[in-house]
Amino acid sequence: MILAEFDYVRPAGLDEALALLSGTRGAKALAGGQSLLPDLRSGADRAGLLVDIRRLAELRGIGRTTDGTRLRIGALTTLAELATDPLVLAEAPELAAAARANGDPQVRNLGTIGGNLLAAGRATDLPVAALAADAVAELAGPDGRSTVPAEELAAGPAPAGSVLTALLVPAAGPAAAFEKTADRATRYPVCATAVRITPGGPRIAVTGATSRALRLRGVEDRLRGGPYGTDAVLAAFRAEPRELFVPGRGTSAEYLGHLVGVLTARALHRAEQALAR
Ligand SMILES: Cc1cc2nc3c(=O)[nH]c(=O)nc-3n(C[C@H](O)[C@H](O)[C@H](O)COP(=O)(O)OP(=O)(O)OC[C@H]3O[C@@H](n4cnc5c(N)ncnc54)[C@H](O)[C@@H]3O)c2cc1C
Repeated sequence: MILAEFDYVRPAGLDEALALLSGTRGAKALAGGQSLLPDLRSGADRAGLLVDIRRLAELRGIGRTTDGTRLRIGALTTLAELATDPLVLAEAPELAAAARANGDPQVRNLGTIGGNLLAAGRATDLPVAALAADAVAELAGPDGRSTVPAEELAAGPAPAGSVLTALLVPAAGPAAAFEKTADRATRYPVCATAVRITPGGPRIAVTGATSRALRLRGVEDRLRGGPYGTDAVLAAFRAEPRELFVPGRGTSAEYLGHLVGVLTARALHRAEQALAR
């Protein structure tokens, strides 16, 4: 389809971007354009003004927070950068793996973490990794700065007129993993899972099989203290209410519940192996 008409502006700073986003009807942030532009073309989304945020320096960079306990990953970090960054690979490997699992090279080179976390209406890979990592999103809005847990962000929508500036991710070392079964045509997840093994027990999040990216606290509780063998993990998934898993595209809820259980068992196994090395 042909793109509907919209205005375009490239603000010089974050304050100008926020003023445009909150003060203009139908304004939307444009990052890599990998979700937004196809959606505008297909009519799945509309915008009167695209506010191009790609030059905002405040949204760039990967480093540690000043107290050293978390990574701060700028919202304009591309999926390709996230997948290969040494700090992310060492301390948040589930995020790097989720970025690597994403689309094709062109999408990874242009698509940003902010856009992947906020791409509405489709299951994407990063939100599930952010949930397992217990990450927090840093937002800037017309009323100032705020932080929102990744779980709240996944429940969406993001506050109107706000810009996601960064993702704050607790460092885990190697005790984390991501697994995905991709749709053959689009590479989007049919279902995906991310896990982190913490001293308090495993954190487990899934997407695709469920209505949106979710932490599965029931499964986490059943597996607390281990072991994380395939039988135990599948039993923990079978104990979940069937309505949790949403059938679609020729797959039944039972199939998806089983598939995501198998992926989770695999991810826990890989995280345990990495921890033991
Ligand atoms: C061929 C193809 C294959 C794909 N395969 C996969 C896949 O396998 N897995 C997967 O997870 N995804 C997949 N995607 C989706 C892709 O990863 C996302 O579209 C991309 O990461 C979105 O980032 P972006 O920077 O392009 O966002 P945009 O398209 O620019 O924006 C997406 C949305 O987020 C908003 N937004 C973006 N950044 C910010 C910000 N910092 N603050 C506030 N709002 C913001 C925009 O306003 C818009 O609503 C695929 C896409 C394509 C085209």
